[in-house]
Amino acid sequence: MQEGDWDMEQDLRAAMKKFEAAGELLQVRKEVDPDYELSAVLWRAKRGPAVLFEKVKGSKMRVIGNVNNTRGKFAISLDLPRSEILPRLVHGMEKPVKVEVVSNAPCQQVVIERDIDLAKLLPAPRVSEKDAGPYLTAGILIAKHPETGLRNCSIHRMQVHGPDTLGVNMAPTHLSKMYQRAGELNEPLQVAVCIGNHPAVMLASNMYGRLGSDELEMAGALFGKPLQVAKCRTINMEAPAGCEIVLEGEMRPGELKEEGPFGELMGSYAFRGKRQVFHCKAVTMREDAIYHHVVGSNHPEHLLIMAMPREANIYKSAKVTFPRLEDINMTEGGCGLFHAVVSIRKTGEGEGKKAILTLLTLNDLLKQVTVVDSDIDVHDPVMVEWAIATRVRAEKDVVLFPDLKTNKLDRLANKDGTITKWGIDATRPLDLPAEVYEYATVPAEIMKKVERDWEQYLS
Ligand code: MN
Repeated sequence: MQEGDWDMEQDLRAAMKKFEAAGELLQVRKEVDPDYELSAVLWRAKRGPAVLFEKVKGSKMRVIGNVNNTRGKFAISLDLPRSEILPRLVHGMEKPVKVEVVSNAPCQQVVIERDIDLAKLLPAPRVSEKDAGPYLTAGILIAKHPETGLRNCSIHRMQVHGPDTLGVNMAPTHLSKMYQRAGELNEPLQVAVCIGNHPAVMLASNMYGRLGSDELEMAGALFGKPLQVAKCRTINMEAPAGCEIVLEGEMRPGELKEEGPFGELMGSYAFRGKRQVFHCKAVTMREDAIYHHVVGSNHPEHLLIMAMPREANIYKSAKVTFPRLEDINMTEGGCGLFHAVVSIRKTGEGEGKKAILTLLTLNDLLKQVTVVDSDIDVHDPVMVEWAIATRVRAEKDVVLFPDLKTNKLDRLANKDGTITKWGIDATRPLDLPAEVYEYATVPAEIMKKVERDWEQYLS
């Protein structure tokens, strides 16, 4: 294959170029310590630009973070207007595109098959104070079902255990089902851990399908063309051709090792426990590989990688029974897990509550839903609170649903695995005239003009 045959639009560097052009890439030349300091910088700039660390203590590799910390960056990476993000993600789940295998992929420019020492090779940072150690947090684990051969992708925290071993927190996922089946057949499960990916590939890896629906094909749908992949060298697996680093290896039946604690999505520590182990057999990477680090805990990058695919999934399902659903935000304060704000086009009384009920039935962890009219931007917390302040009569509009099923990620859960869920119907009551709720502001066309000509006001 000639150089340039692979699609340079599908890799992390393509996204970085777009960030740079949009003023969304900060290059840090000061040396930073991967132990806490690097994560602290990413916390300090948590809603800011992507941060490329040029000099990381003890490593030759550059490190990037805050790649997926805002919805805007995802839009930039795919040349989308903000309003098109949700429809594109829904499209990604609905219209998968088969992958295309290429040779001479950038992710295989360097091959290491002997004397692997991951702790030395990768500048894996430490994040939260009580984490068990350095963690790989942005690795997409790609595996195939031992019987069907169908691929699965998912992201899991991986603790650096030894020179060529990593702990894996699988949770009950498609990956854990495949590992379990491999174990029943007394086989190791081959896994490729892919680090340094385009935002679309990252989000696709967390998309919701059935066991056997291929997240790499969903990434293709996000790009609107096949995702290019490389054949791994030591395992029967494919990795995104443009990714920065690939760890090829396996997880063996029955092998468990103490993993954790680690600061997780809920902003508190996941406890220590016996979990699976990944054995690395080969590392392939780019010559000047960039290591992607996602800060754990409830850092916005961590939350959004999980929340955006979840929003698309819930939206897609809710839309079937509630077609007047307009938009959804799994909020940052709600850890991207527990709280949703949705907007609807209300035509009759009771529809706000119907929307609450619909959403609560779709996802076990979701426990609070706020419904607003479509004139409210669900991503603007001030306007959402304004709707609550001016459109809610609490005795009518706050509804409780005691003892619904949740899961153990919610530590407030009752012993029987339930929790009281609730909703706020902050849509306009229809018993007052529409004028009562009319938003007082400048004419829309004037606001548009000012926005369009904004630069002129700055000079
Ligand atoms: Mn899956």
